[in-house]
Formats: sequence, C-alpha cells, structure tokens
Amino acid sequence: MKKIQLHCKNCGWSDNYQEPLKRCPVCGDDILYALYELENLRNLKTLIRERKPGLWRYHELLPIKNVENIVTLGEGGTPLIHAKNLGAMLGLKHLYFKDERQGPTGSFKDRQASVAISVMKELGIQEAVVASTGNVAIAYSAYAARAGIKLWAFFPDRVPSDKIREVALYGTEVVNVTGTYDQTKEIAQRFAQQQGIYYDRGIKSIAAMESMKTMAYEIAEDLDWRAPDWFIQGVSGGMGPIGVAKGFEELMALGIVERVPSIGIVQSVGCTPMVDAYNNGWSVAVPVENPTTIIATLSTGNPGRAYQLLWDVMQQYGGAADSATDEEAFEVTRILARTDGISVEPATAVAFAGLIKMVRRGVIKSDQVVVFNCSGHTFPVEKDILGQEWAREVDISTAPTTPSLPTSHLLTAVQEVDAPVRRILIVEDNEDSARLLSRIFLSQGGYEVTVATNGREGLEKAQEATPDLIISDLMMPEMDGFQLIENLKTDKNLRNIPIIVLTAKELTPTERNRLAGRIDSFLQKGSFLNEELMQQILEMLN
Ligand SMILES: *Cc1c(COP(=O)(O)O)cnc(C)c1O
Ligand SMILES: [Zn+2]
Repeated sequence: MKKIQLHCKNCGWSDNYQEPLKRCPVCGDDILYALYELENLRNLKTLIRERKPGLWRYHELLPIKNVENIVTLGEGGTPLIHAKNLGAMLGLKHLYFKDERQGPTGSFKDRQASVAISVMKELGIQEAVVASTGNVAIAYSAYAARAGIKLWAFFPDRVPSDKIREVALYGTEVVNVTGTYDQTKEIAQRFAQQQGIYYDRGIKSIAAMESMKTMAYEIAEDLDWRAPDWFIQGVSGGMGPIGVAKGFEELMALGIVERVPSIGIVQSVGCTPMVDAYNNGWSVAVPVENPTTIIATLSTGNPGRAYQLLWDVMQQYGGAADSATDEEAFEVTRILARTDGISVEPATAVAFAGLIKMVRRGVIKSDQVVVFNCSGHTFPVEKDILGQEWAREVDISTAPTTPSLPTSHLLTAVQEVDAPVRRILIVEDNEDSARLLSRIFLSQGGYEVTVATNGREGLEKAQEATPDLIISDLMMPEMDGFQLIENLKTDKNLRNIPIIVLTAKELTPTERNRLAGRIDSFLQKGSFLNEELMQQILEMLN
C-alpha cells in the first residue's frame, strides 16, 4: 500500500495524505506538496519498462490510492520532437518540442484533468465547479463526462467562443463572467460554496502539480534518462514548470538523473506579473489588476503563492524570463507552422517568441538541450492569424473552359521562366542550415539556389555561374568565409556581387575589420527570423 505525505514548504508541516486539503492547517499556505516513499521506488526504470505509454504508468508517484479509480483517455506519453528546422534557424542543435498538442483535448491540461477527475472519483464527488481560461475546462469536461461527474465551468472575458462551445459540447454547464480571470475564480468559488458543490482549486490542487511533473519523467525517459538544460513554457498560473521541476527533483532523489533543468518562463505583454517580478529580482509578484492581452490562456493577473515557489525553483536551478506581444505571437505562429509543421495556439507562440529572445540575449546557448512545452488549440484563433486571404476561389461555372488555376509560388515560378531568375549561392557547411535556407528561397519562388559546403567550392561555383547574391557562413573547412570574401573581391567578374554573411560566430574587432566595406549585411545566426532575412534580401536585390 503506497503512503503519501502532504507537506507544507512554508512551515514544514507534514501529515499522511487522506484527501486534498485546501490549505496547511498550521500556517494556511494554499499550495501543498505530495511526497512519496521514494526509497521503495529505486527500481522505477524497470518497474515501468513493460507498461504502456501514458501518464499512469507512473501511478506509484501519483496521488490516488486505488488504480480502479483512474479516469483515462490515453493522456501523457506525448512525443518529444526534435525541431530541426527551427533549431537551425535559431542556431540551437538540440531543440525539442514536448508535443502536448497530441493529448486527448490538445493541451497539457489533459494530464491535470485525468489526475484531478480520478481524485474526484476516488472521493466519490459527483458534481464540481472549475474556473478556467479555456484549456482546463475543455480537458476537465471530457474527463468529467467520462466519469459521470457533472461539471460547471466559469469563464472570464476574452476566452474564444469556440473553446467555450467545445466545453458545452461535453455537457458542461457554462457560466460566462464579465471580468478578469482572478475575479472569475472568486465568483466560481462563492457559487460552489453556496451550492455545496466541490470546488476544484485548479492549478493550486495537488492533482495539478502532480500531473505536470509527469512531463519531466517522460522528457527524461526520451532523453535516455537525462535532464535537459532548459524547460521553456508560457506561464499563467506557473504550475507547469513548478510541477516539471518537482518531477526532476524526484528523479534526482531516485538517482536517475543528475540535475534539474533551468526554467524559462514567458508571458504575454499585457500580463507579466511573474516575468516582471523575476527580472526585478523579487520573490513576490505584484498582481496585474487588468490584464490587457487578448490571449486568455495567459491572463492570470495574480499568481499568488505559485510565483514564490517558481522563484525558489528558478533561484535554485537557474532561470530566464521574457515576454512577447500578441502580435509577435501571431507572427511566430506562422513561423512554427511553416518551418517545422507545428501549428500551435497563441499561448504557445508567445512562449516560442520568448525563447527566441532568450537565444538572442545569449541566455540559452547553441549546444544546450532545450525542451519547449508545446500546446495547441489552433482553430479558435486561426482567423486572427491568417486573415481572410488564405485561399483562392476558382469558380468553374463562370469560366467553364479554362478555369484560372490558383497561382501558387511554384506555378508563378514556372510561368515566369522568361523573367530573369535570381540565382542565389549559399556557402554553408552545416547541412541543416543550408537546407533551411534553400527551402526559404525555394518556397518564395523565383530563386535558383546553389549550395556549396566550403569556401573553395563556393568560389568555384561562383566562377562557373555568376550568382546574383551570395550568402556565406564564416567558419568552414578548407577555405573559410573570410578567405572566400577576399577572393571574391579581387575577381573583377565577381567583386560586385552582394554578400550576406550569416554566422553563429562572435566577431573579434580584427575580424570585423576584415569584413568591413566588403559585405552588404551581417546576420548573426540565432538572431534572425526567416521573414526578416527575406526582407533584407529582397531589399538588396531590388
Ligand atoms: C495552461 C496553459 C499555460 C499556462 O500554464 P501554467 O503552467 O499554469 O502557467 C500555458 N500554455 C498553455 C497552452 C496552457 O494550456
Ligand atoms: Zn504550513
């Protein structure tokens, strides 16, 4: 029989876990930790080996007493995807997406819902109230339906109506509150109290932290039982990273991994209580009364005690905090989809925009292992991202003979063979980067791309067929970029070709001088988005 202790980090109180308490009976702290008898789980790796993938293969480390009470839809066990193209774009070799989109309702809240609803079932609860900015309610609704639990979901302003409709579809009672998320939580709690209904404390519940930590177990397992250097997530309540850090701490206590990753948190400009506090070095966040972000998922104005716990974790294991605007997020949504085929919801795009900034600031280094928590309900917001002009109509009835085909880039390119083709020579020894660059140009149409893998080959190819533009790396075998540029500048046929240098190298003053006046643009890898690069190149060619 497994024994779980409830523990208060604030005052040190502990007792046997009977049911999820709302607060510490001694000091009143409202976030408690579940502690397990880890000494009995030293064989964890062998214990789980034969079990099916999913969160419950770690049930010894989850807060339910009887596995009969598990309510599952196959949550957890999501893939860890190597984001090669995005990694090449940012100069990160080991960028991974923990693809939580592949959960039953499309976000990592499926983990929370499965554990929370299982706990409710074990407690014999038949009706519950939850306040949510969308994803929690969607996930809880699915699992509550399955468990035969009647659910009430309270929503603040700005939750996309498509998300609310999805909740209603599962049979949940929907209450829309005109107010902020923090106000909505209060009203939901009062309603539950008046009606004598169980109020789910959301991210403050034991179920939340315990479920989130299973992401850590899975990440470690997928990395051959190692911890990454970074775990990056968009935060609202903050429980995702707190749970993940706890998961790695447990694996460390079991002697399975050697460390806990540093935690990168990102918030939407318009609601940055935690990012501001962290960057000011405060252990307590100042609440944001009226969040102005339209991204409801990230609109917790008052993170309360959760931020202090997060602060402790980030102090201990290292951290970084950044923010991005809603507009940057929509831009990044497009980049993620087009570069690596990953379509995400805005909250995730905010997080990735923040990750880009962390790389640019040099906080995240190119050889570090970075895991990015990726969720996505894209559909409720895709209209904001694509606008109205995402498809072309072909009306066959009015043009029965030759319907004009939609002009994709490719067709345009084919139709314009007479027009001068713009030849681009890419000199780059990193295969991934070269492939990514070629793809950017080829997908634009109108470009002919030649790739050379070092300076010598680059020079030969430039002499064979004069390109209109050369994009060159600096550090390459045989002949480096500096030498290549010097050779190009002494050749009267080649000296006028514009050159863009694209490199991960930090230049010394001498190296800068060597390039001065000879190149047209210098781009640091990891400090550009492909759209920006395109823009520069287009300007140079026109
Ligand atoms: C819930 C949610 C968040 C915020 O999570 P916390 O860890 O509670 O701060 C961020 N992104 C998505 C997609 C979410 O569903
Ligand atoms: Zn206490």
